[in-house]
Amino acid sequence: MKPIQDIFPLLSQPKKVVITTHQKPDADAMGSSLALYHFLKGFGHSVTVVSPTNWATFLNWMPGCKTVLDFESPNEKSNDAIAEADWIFCLDFNTLSRTKRMAEKLMAVKAEKILIDHHREPQIEVFAYGISDTGKSSTAEMIYDFIVDSGNEDKITPEIAECVYAGVMTDTGSFRFPSTTASVHKMVAKLKEKGLDHSHVHEELFDNFLENRFRFIGNVLLNRMQIFYEYNAALIAIPQTDLVKYDMRTGDTEGIVNYPLSIKGIKLAAVIIDRGEERKSSFRSKGGFDVNTFARKYFNGGGHFNAAGGFNKEPLEEVVEKFKQAMQENVAQLSSYQF
Ligand code: 5GP
Ligand code: MN
Repeated sequence: MKPIQDIFPLLSQPKKVVITTHQKPDADAMGSSLALYHFLKGFGHSVTVVSPTNWATFLNWMPGCKTVLDFESPNEKSNDAIAEADWIFCLDFNTLSRTKRMAEKLMAVKAEKILIDHHREPQIEVFAYGISDTGKSSTAEMIYDFIVDSGNEDKITPEIAECVYAGVMTDTGSFRFPSTTASVHKMVAKLKEKGLDHSHVHEELFDNFLENRFRFIGNVLLNRMQIFYEYNAALIAIPQTDLVKYDMRTGDTEGIVNYPLSIKGIKLAAVIIDRGEERKSSFRSKGGFDVNTFARKYFNGGGHFNAAGGFNKEPLEEVVEKFKQAMQENVAQLSSYQF
């Protein structure tokens, strides 16, 4: 993988570009993809954003989101765009498997793949160019750096500023996680100068839920949350029947994993959701417990030190048992927490 700076001199030659990201894109995945989309369009490239799957409706307000193709919807356009691309930017994921059914296609194409990402252990051998920096708050911040480092700060529009802000704000938990560096705050100041309406972004992302989601969260916190004080941990295990009963859609369960971390003493929170075809898990930690390693070891996943996810094929009860076993195996580290 050659350094990302090597493509700066090539930006001025028009190309066919595809931008893709991880399955079920979140606001950082979508925000970084669309920020790059607007930036590259400004150079006259032909640019298509292809998401491996559908995404939460609360992302639809993002400038350019209506042009994004869903690889899983029956449509030849995304296949054609991928087959014809000169460059494929891969944003906010570390291994091609994170693009689900698109992975095989991405492996086979002639296009040069370019990585911009902040997850651990990237699959560097499949990328022609790229940058992987786990010290970065978000991929959106890395897109901002890409624009500035390539000498194009003047090309940052209010649309780009909104997309970047949506990514960095959500990936830092509204600027509270330790990943929120001085550079992040300086960048936000610059984005404000570029015309960013930050209140608009917060309202679009956080004030657009339907009543049923709150009823669902009420049910989940009352009936599905278990606290394990001996491990300073909490688990929320959600059966598929709950998702059906409350009519939960893509994105509605995002953020639920953070609730137990507000309980005094809890340093590990887990959510395991039965999605039918698989059991999807999310892990969050505070302080020194490494959920990236935890998710890799027990749940076929990965992510960051304090935020990770995974998936299992076993039934929900078995995955819950696996989690309990995993807590036991990590008891020394989990119970040593100082309050
Ligand atoms: P979430 O819990 O929000 O799905 O994911 C938390 C973090 O872990 C995100 O940065 C996400 O990219 C990463 N992550 C989630 N699921 C997986 C997975 O199955 N494999 C890997 N490698 N990373 C994941
Ligand atoms: Mn991210």
